Amino acid sequence: MITSELWRGKRFAVLGLARSGAATVRALLASGAEVVAWDSDAGRREAFSQAPPLQERQVNRAPHGSGQAGSLTDLTLGWGGGSPQVQRLGMAPTPNPSPEGEGLLRFTDLDTIDLSGFDALVLSPGVPLNTHPIAAKARAAGVPIIGDIELFAQARAELPPHKVVGITGTNGKSTTTALIKHIIETAGMPTLMGGNIGLPILEQAPLAEGGVYVLELSSYQIDLTQTLDCDVAVLLNITPDHLDRYDGFDAYAASKARLFAMQTRQHDAIVSIFDAPSAAIARSLSARAEHLTKIAPGFCMDQSRWLSLQGPHNAQNALAAINACEALGIPNAAIDAGLESFTGLPHRMETVATKHGVRFVNDSKATNPESAAPALAAFDGIHWILGGQSKSASLDACRPGFGHVRAAYTIGAAGVQFADLLTGAMPVSYCETLDRAVMAAAMAAQPGETVLLSPACASFDQFRDFEARGDAFRAAVEALP
Ligand code: ADP
Repeated sequence: MITSELWRGKRFAVLGLARSGAATVRALLASGAEVVAWDSDAGRREAFSQAPPLQERQVNRAPHGSGQAGSLTDLTLGWGGGSPQVQRLGMAPTPNPSPEGEGLLRFTDLDTIDLSGFDALVLSPGVPLNTHPIAAKARAAGVPIIGDIELFAQARAELPPHKVVGITGTNGKSTTTALIKHIIETAGMPTLMGGNIGLPILEQAPLAEGGVYVLELSSYQIDLTQTLDCDVAVLLNITPDHLDRYDGFDAYAASKARLFAMQTRQHDAIVSIFDAPSAAIARSLSARAEHLTKIAPGFCMDQSRWLSLQGPHNAQNALAAINACEALGIPNAAIDAGLESFTGLPHRMETVATKHGVRFVNDSKATNPESAAPALAAFDGIHWILGGQSKSASLDACRPGFGHVRAAYTIGAAGVQFADLLTGAMPVSYCETLDRAVMAAAMAAQPGETVLLSPACASFDQFRDFEARGDAFRAAVEALP
């Protein structure tokens, strides 16, 4: 767990007790902070109160206000009862004095309390800053709104000497993050990944001296971060996405630009300039001189030995990773070895089976047309399964790959609309469900061809998330004769 002396005695409000929120509360408590936390899901509150390390021995169920002892809204966990801070919070004193370093937790609906006097409001990146009332309430009270990455940034001074690589972009973040981590590991250096991927960063054991933290950073996470000075910051691309959370495309691009604004000038910036907003960010960083690396389109590379890094989009990801690792001083031999031995991530152009000479590829993570386009470019003879909850009324971003598609099979809420859009450009069947689409595509595909799930849509109309959709694809493929 990552902790900090800076948080001792400070007061935090934390909204959301899913994985990163729960890890945040534990790290704050272990650092001696006072935390008022809430999750509207009572199950999450219950699960948190029962999860280690807040063991039975350490949990004090104390009455608070008019609530009943032990009810989850007034559960007080922790120690140090009777401290001035506890009284200020109106908490009931707890019977067991704390071991050194342990803080105090109360569950209270944040809508019902005054936020002024808190040192920060910690939000999960899932909370929309532009529309959620808690954000407006915190701003009105002058309380900084932060996330777990900002807390990590604050704790850095107390960690053994290390470096941080931050990766952002609309598409390719997870792949590039995992690839950079893999190359660092191949070079024999201590490393871990966090942020939008893997375990919550505050829950992980700090790295030994010389370690490298590799952080995947969505724009939402950057919005909640103020002081993360990445030794190496990487921008992959900026295309329209998540526009419901921003006041237009420029505001979304500006969010990504902040990753570089937080860096000191002598730290490295690696910017792919395939699109206009990214190129504009690169131009704004030109004073960085040799600390700015621009990755331009048209760069030719032999990707044949990088089995899990096929397609032009992975050339962009690989180049970004190569430059980031060079900036970290990793020798070329380790970089080459890492690129070759990288096995990729599930649900991103993942070959799940080859049956009767037909390859089945799960690219369920392609949740918008821009991220489906690279998969269409990476294969020939494609039987393309697409559809779901659409984010865009057009498939124009996929058009350059249409020549590689033998036939399309549409599913989900956008199935009919996409079938209409594609009719005329290729044979199309509206299949409604993923199972039926897999069956139809498998029957039509010839040896040497590829059945590709690259839906260009979110999954929520028919699945819990893109992972569940990818798992359903794999299961349907496995069930085929
Ligand atoms: P992210 O974490 O940013 O969502 P992933 O690495 O998980 O990105 O890839 C998500 C999808 O985006 C994959 O299906 C892949 O086909 C596509 N993709 C990956 N890298 C890129 C890229 N550099 N440019 C465009 N699309 C990409």
